[in-house]
Amino acid sequence: MNALAPRQSGAQDPRIPRIGPGEPSHHAYWSRQMWVDARSAARAALDVVWTRLTAEWLRKTAARLFQGRWPVVDLPGENWFIRTVLRAVAPGTAVGAALGAGLTALLMSVALAVLALLCGVVWLLAMAAVLVLRGAERLWALVRGIRMKCPYPGCYRPFPLAVHRCPNCDVPHGALRPGRYGALWHVCVCGQRLVTTSFAGRGRLATRCPHCDQRLPEAVGSTRVVHVPLVGGTSSGKTMLMAAMVEGLQSWSRRSPLSVEYASAADRQDAGTLHQQLQQVGWAHKTQGGQPRAFMLVVRHGRRRRLLYLYDPMGESLRDAGSVREQHYLAHADGVILVADVLAEPHVRRGLRGADAERADAARPADQGPTDTYQRLTGELAALTGRRGRMPVATVVTKRDVLDQIASLPVPGARIDGWLSDIGLGALVRGLGHDFGAARYWAVSAHAATGAGALDSEQRRAAEPVLWVLARSGLRVGALAAETPGPGVPGPRDKAVPDPSGR
Ligand SMILES: [Zn+2]
Ligand SMILES: [Zn+2]
Repeated sequence: MNALAPRQSGAQDPRIPRIGPGEPSHHAYWSRQMWVDARSAARAALDVVWTRLTAEWLRKTAARLFQGRWPVVDLPGENWFIRTVLRAVAPGTAVGAALGAGLTALLMSVALAVLALLCGVVWLLAMAAVLVLRGAERLWALVRGIRMKCPYPGCYRPFPLAVHRCPNCDVPHGALRPGRYGALWHVCVCGQRLVTTSFAGRGRLATRCPHCDQRLPEAVGSTRVVHVPLVGGTSSGKTMLMAAMVEGLQSWSRRSPLSVEYASAADRQDAGTLHQQLQQVGWAHKTQGGQPRAFMLVVRHGRRRRLLYLYDPMGESLRDAGSVREQHYLAHADGVILVADVLAEPHVRRGLRGADAERADAARPADQGPTDTYQRLTGELAALTGRRGRMPVATVVTKRDVLDQIASLPVPGARIDGWLSDIGLGALVRGLGHDFGAARYWAVSAHAATGAGALDSEQRRAAEPVLWVLARSGLRVGALAAETPGPGVPGPRDKAVPDPSGR
């Protein structure tokens, strides 16, 4: 009798655990089936001894001897003498059979104990492998500062493990990590092997957010994310600036070791649409929708890389405290880019006369001045993050091309913070310097940096605020941001922070 063979061919063996409703993977052999098989083997072995003893030796052989019959078959020529002898050896045979069975059972138990011990060793080794692999992965994520967060509006939630899709049958695996389904790989219901660690290439599988089930970029599980919201009123030039920043990063990548790529096909498409719009119309349409989807770029410098999430929320979302609080991505922000349209500042506008006022009007000033935006943002940001004290803020004065033409305003020079103070925004500069861990200032013409005939130098300048925030996350691109003279000279509160990843 083969104790491990299927009981009935073609039917599900009741000893093989069915795949549960949770994870669509087969349990690892060592986690379940090994014990089921060991139990089956032990039961079958002891069953054999017991059946031999009771059914064959006691009920058949000994019972016949007690009746004075030959043990196996009746032989001819029996007489009373033979029957007496047979009856006389019957008790001894019964006792001998019992003793033999007892001894066999004892030897079998020792063998089974050794089997159990070996199974235990296998289980312990597998569990140790699981713990070591999980620990190594956790440590690696910690060292590299990887904290996965959803880039999609309405979600923006952090998660410890993304949902991975089987490349063969597209079934979602919510627990693809070393565990009871396997230490090194899981076996999908379809039979496909799926590796369980990012070291082995788990990141190459398609991933989704476990909360909202939307597709995540490939780099999300292996790259540190840097969240940078662009904050400013409607028509302050946020979207244009973001387009200029992306162009600028690409311009930097052509002339330095920096490399930039779109994190997903959707990002490539969005960038293409925006680029086309800027080429044809000359400006970006107003940001639509309630909450923004993060625009994602993978920025690499040397051996390090960052997954940059740029958020371009519509200006209205900063109208009041309630709507600011709904911008949950602000809670993860690694730095804020304050888009300042100084022409929207009421007292700056009041100081403009004649042609200057017309020029300012033609530049379609934002509905909200930078001081207003800052005030809305700052209180809520403290409540959302609780760590605003360490966060850098890059203030980018937009529409520089218009500002340069306005004669009644001083020309923005090397020190934009000083220039802001000169035009009456000193309180804003002091507030930013006081409330954030670091503050730097730039003045950019997104108009000159985008669309037909875009200036390469202006694009690179537009990318500097992003590079500065990335540098503070440990990517060694700080030298690039400081390379171009002029706007972008460190402000008084700009202090170096140690690289949190320690590399
Ligand atoms: Zn599958
Ligand atoms: Zn999500």
